[in-house]
Amino acid sequence: MKVRAWLHLHTVCSGDADLTLDALLAAAKAAGVGALFLTEHREALSDDGIRESVRRCREHSDADLVLVPGLEISSDERYHILGFGLVAAVSKGPAAAMAGRMREAGAFPALAHPSRYPPGWEDTAGSIGAVEVWNRHYDGRLAPPAAIVAACRKTGGRSLFGLDAHGAEALSGALPEMILDVDALEEPALLEALRDGRAESAVDGKPFDAFAGGGLRALAGSGYRGLRRLARRVAYALPFKDETRKRIGRRW
Ligand SMILES: [Zn+2]
Ligand SMILES: [Zn+2]
Repeated sequence: MKVRAWLHLHTVCSGDADLTLDALLAAAKAAGVGALFLTEHREALSDDGIRESVRRCREHSDADLVLVPGLEISSDERYHILGFGLVAAVSKGPAAAMAGRMREAGAFPALAHPSRYPPGWEDTAGSIGAVEVWNRHYDGRLAPPAAIVAACRKTGGRSLFGLDAHGAEALSGALPEMILDVDALEEPALLEALRDGRAESAVDGKPFDAFAGGGLRALAGSGYRGLRRLARRVAYALPFKDETRKRIGRRW
């Protein structure tokens, strides 16, 4: 069965978010999403707070909607590492070591929002195993940054779409998500689908196609700014020389 999933969600207990669990549940049910991967900021939570957030996920999961608990933790390199399914904090350290500890704990680690980091993150991404190539909070509504997608491909890691939602307003419009192929709508099966790559990038329930699908749909709602972004995406996708791309990027 195919399940639509929203990844990288912060609720009020993350400290910098005003998304209530009720608002999140209502938005997911209205959209027909079956899985929510929460990633609260570890830095904002005590160990008791983490246990409480895990308990709330279990309590609010039912046959139609599963909330998978998780944490977002900073590494020594100041990378943010998402631990999907992580129910207790791992100790801090280099990103690769933290990802290893998350895997040992049964979680699925991913490098969050690489477009925020200086060049070089690709070297570490391979050992983390997955990259959030499109973070809607930082990368906009239109499409994942082409350079990030290409860099992720080189690392051989899995690519994920995430929302990094902090408020209810982040749950409207055409949303990047993942479609997971699972035998049962249960937390272990959802995590296994991410791990095994039975996961497809999508926008609003439809497999993602930057130009025919997600891009144009997002463009319809985003006016001139969206047009500029689309022009930039097209410029990156066409076989132009690097200088030409830069020129188009500057002009647009
Ligand atoms: Zn982050
Ligand atoms: Zn986040």
